[in-house]
Amino acid sequence: DAKRSGRGIVRLFDEQMDEGIRVRRLVEAGLTQAIARDELTLVFQPIVGRGDLSIAGFEALVRWHSPEHGAVSPAIFIPIAEESNLIHQLGDWVLDEALAQVRHWPDQYVSVNFSPVQFRRSHFVGHILDSVRRAGVDPARVQIEITETAIFDDAERAAQTLCELRKLGFRIALDDFGTGYSSLYNIRKFALDCLKIDRSFIDGMGRERESAAIVHSIIHLGRALGLGVVAEGVETEAQAQALRVAGASHLQGFLFSRPVAPCEARKLAARRALPMMPVPSDEAVAV
Ligand code: C2E
Ligand code: MG
Ligand code: MG
Ligand code: MG
Repeated sequence: DAKRSGRGIVRLFDEQMDEGIRVRRLVEAGLTQAIARDELTLVFQPIVGRGDLSIAGFEALVRWHSPEHGAVSPAIFIPIAEESNLIHQLGDWVLDEALAQVRHWPDQYVSVNFSPVQFRRSHFVGHILDSVRRAGVDPARVQIEITETAIFDDAERAAQTLCELRKLGFRIALDDFGTGYSSLYNIRKFALDCLKIDRSFIDGMGRERESAAIVHSIIHLGRALGLGVVAEGVETEAQAQALRVAGASHLQGFLFSRPVAPCEARKLAARRALPMMPVPSDEAVAV
């Protein structure tokens, strides 16, 4: 009986693998044409100051509406793009689009995600610099989001790259912080502006002591190193309040705004603040 169910599992596994490869090939083929066929768009999610909810910047997030597959999540197609080198073409498109939008905002920055594959490309710095110059955008209006994975493999070289970017005036954010493998000792060596606490810890805050402890530790670490700390994936008022009290400098999440289309982002940017809830009166606690 055990043998039989074992074979069942093997067969199921094979089928799933075939399915995985099939999906991968379909996505890869579709993605190759997506840029030329205008199927990609960017949406923008506000990153707000902890106190007055003023909009400091917007994170650019790519969306793909495929005529064959419908809306495909970046969580699916970004890894496929990374494996097939399409990420460079896609990344260039994202950066150019993001730069085109930031020019319409009064003073906010645009925060752009870069995959480790892009970050490790030779001439990464020169490439970004060319793009911002062509667009006529001040590097100070551009935040580069990278993950721990990007800097983990070759810390020396990564430190050098970040240092160059920072000297040119770009802002640097370490995304999904807490989920990777960067040693705390190394963090100190990188030219960063802020840490973005991964959504999974914010999500767990109200339920598990561990998540709350991790969130507090990251905030303390960031502040001790003179960095901003952005909490991502804030969905409830209780989370927002706990994060304010803990001393996070910025908040981002569905509670404040979903990612919005460029025209909507432009309106929000002009208004500078979100048209929402009053700031709690006991707000300035831990700062
Ligand atoms: P990320 O950079 O960590 O982006 C945050 C993700 O959390 C986004 O998902 C955003 O829509 C989602 N999010 C924000 N607030 C909330 C919330 O309150 N609740 C929940 N449940 N989710 C929230 P999205 O847009 O699906 O992107 C997923 C990931 O795909 C991103 O994670 C990023 O790693 C990658 N990605 C997205 N756009 C790009 C891009 O242009 N280039 C690259 N290289 N990666 C991208
Ligand atoms: Mg991000
Ligand atoms: Mg993130
Ligand atoms: Mg994430």
